[in-house]
Amino acid sequence: MFPSSSRSQLCYVPQMDNGLDTRRTVDELRELQTLTGDASGAQRLCWTDTWLQAREWLATKLARLPVLAEIDPAGNQWATLPGRSPRTLLIGGHLDSVADGGWLDGCLNVLAGLEVLRHLGAQSAPPLTVRLVSWADEEGARFGRSLFGSSAAAGHLQPDEVRGLRDAGGVALADALAACNVDLDRAGDARQQLANAAAYLELHIEQGPVLERLGLPLGAVLGTYAVERHLLRFTGESAHAGSTPMDARRDAFAAAARVALEAREIAIRAGGVSTVGRAVTHPGIVTAIPGRCEITLDQRHLDGGTLAGMLAQAREAADSIARDEKVTVEWERIWRIDPVHFHPELIDLCEQAVIEVAGRCHRLPSGPLHDAAEVARAGIPTAMIFVQSLRGLSHTRDEDTRPEHIELAVRALDGAVRRTLAWAS
Ligand SMILES: [Zn+2]
Repeated sequence: MFPSSSRSQLCYVPQMDNGLDTRRTVDELRELQTLTGDASGAQRLCWTDTWLQAREWLATKLARLPVLAEIDPAGNQWATLPGRSPRTLLIGGHLDSVADGGWLDGCLNVLAGLEVLRHLGAQSAPPLTVRLVSWADEEGARFGRSLFGSSAAAGHLQPDEVRGLRDAGGVALADALAACNVDLDRAGDARQQLANAAAYLELHIEQGPVLERLGLPLGAVLGTYAVERHLLRFTGESAHAGSTPMDARRDAFAAAARVALEAREIAIRAGGVSTVGRAVTHPGIVTAIPGRCEITLDQRHLDGGTLAGMLAQAREAADSIARDEKVTVEWERIWRIDPVHFHPELIDLCEQAVIEVAGRCHRLPSGPLHDAAEVARAGIPTAMIFVQSLRGLSHTRDEDTRPEHIELAVRALDGAVRRTLAWAS
């Protein structure tokens, strides 16, 4: 699968040397931004010419390293640095962005991983083979299906579930893939890429405000949230806004609003998050009491049992508030996902690596999903490091992280890689 290393007799000693050129990572991020962005932000939508251009740019960088480069059947781009064992340590990120995206989401880890590969490539052969992967279509920004390449590699992609997807211009997903030499029905062959994987590490911007509020550059990620997403339909009775006394109303919106506030308290008590992102009233005119109201409720927690409790409490509150407001309430589940817990020992190693370069570390869950969740669900020990996002912003051209924090993040990833190589061997 890969050539055995001529340096394979040398003993691997974890290096404390930080001969990494972390400044180069910041420069390369800027270079990619200039090459594939415009005044509105990053434009590396997956399966477009701009994304292919980014992939080609990365291939040019990889060509100068002692690595084997390849594109797998799902469009994922791999660089393999042979080690003394065919077992692999994977480092992953994604070059694709949302439209008008930021300069760091996804590509930070690809370029930090590139620097770590350069560093490793200049030393004696590592005990494990080290592979950098740039996953295809993490964002799902064009076709609405996130984590395409990583789910294909993890064995979770069902071609028939995505075959009907079209972009805003009416282009079918399968046609966009074919234009990039990816056959949707063969994308699952990417599964063999994980065959020898011993561990997976991913560095990412936090995309939230927690680390900045704590004044910390870096954190170790515990896993990704479980999600329960529901549509709630409240039905009361429309009546005149002027002639109906307050105690004679069956106001569907008032009931929905009380449930929304109660769901917020439930989340605060449980240490989770809860969002009512949409509220629609009928008839929706200024002079009528709403007879019907629909809201969406999105609840998240890292612990599946706690989330089930949050949902049960929200249902109880909705029933009691509905009785009180003389309306009915129906629930319809839109979507759910179980939590993904990262590997406890790898979380410890990431924490040690963060403390080594930043002095302190905070452990935090991830609200957004990441490719790491797919890899972890495939049973591969996985962990992530977050670096602070200024003002918690992401998926906008205003997304930013201090350059000195980016440099610390590269060093932390390098330290986590060193520790994980020692752990896995
Ligand atoms: Zn991302």
